[in-house]
Amino acid sequence: PAGDKPLLALRNINITFGGVRALRDVSFEVRAGEVHCLAGENGSGKSTLIKIITGVYRPADGAEIEFDGKRYSHMSPVFAHARGIKVIWQDLALFSEMSVAENIAFSEVVGRGVRLVDYARIRSIALDALARLGVSLDVDLPLKQFAIAQRQIVAIARALVGEARVVFMDEPTASLTQSETDNLLAIVRNLAASGVAVVFVSHRLAEVLEISSRLTVLRDGRLVGVYPTAGMTQSRITELMTGRTFDAK
Ligand code: ADP
Ligand code: MG
Repeated sequence: PAGDKPLLALRNINITFGGVRALRDVSFEVRAGEVHCLAGENGSGKSTLIKIITGVYRPADGAEIEFDGKRYSHMSPVFAHARGIKVIWQDLALFSEMSVAENIAFSEVVGRGVRLVDYARIRSIALDALARLGVSLDVDLPLKQFAIAQRQIVAIARALVGEARVVFMDEPTASLTQSETDNLLAIVRNLAASGVAVVFVSHRLAEVLEISSRLTVLRDGRLVGVYPTAGMTQSRITELMTGRTFDAK
């Protein structure tokens, strides 16, 4: 068992955009093998926190990031990526004209330069990543032939290429149907069972309750708290997210 020791921990995270304090003294931690939900209303700072952890934004001085037992004041995107801290953005950042295989093994495509790309190798990297998710897709077809739910899976598979220790998913189910969502949640569960820490951002509370073992709640750029999901209800999470109390039915 992974135990209680965090794989990734952040403390004293502050960031300001043009005078607006987007995050104030936020802490966050995630353990290997857990699905950890990050919940909060729109604008509460969820995506900003992910961008800090993955090196896109630099936090104000005083921040501490601890990953796999080592301390950092910030990480660059390349550094975080190389250490297995991966993110699936809401817009997926995929290439519709490229094949599924090239999208999944994209780091290999750019790493080698177009002339040196070995398609057999690209293909086998992509098939391996999909196999880890228990999914089969025709990797030779262009991505544009696939619907959003499959593209989401392609983006997850891409995150698994090379080392994957922590995978952030920013609102991955936002444009999925219920059955596509169920399928994605099963994939997320398998990924966590393989030892990857998954940070799942969603404001769909049924899904949060179903998938996560712990929950960090942000409100107006501040940390409300970290809670075990067991015993939580949707109305309790709503209260935490909004700061308002609701009458129980
Ligand atoms: P969430 O993902 O929870 O919806 P965000 O992290 O996107 O929230 O945004 C948190 C706050 O920071 C919002 O008030 C948003 O307008 C602001 N913000 C985020 N990114 C920027 C930016 N690049 N420039 C200015 N303001 C930003
Ligand atoms: Mg967001």
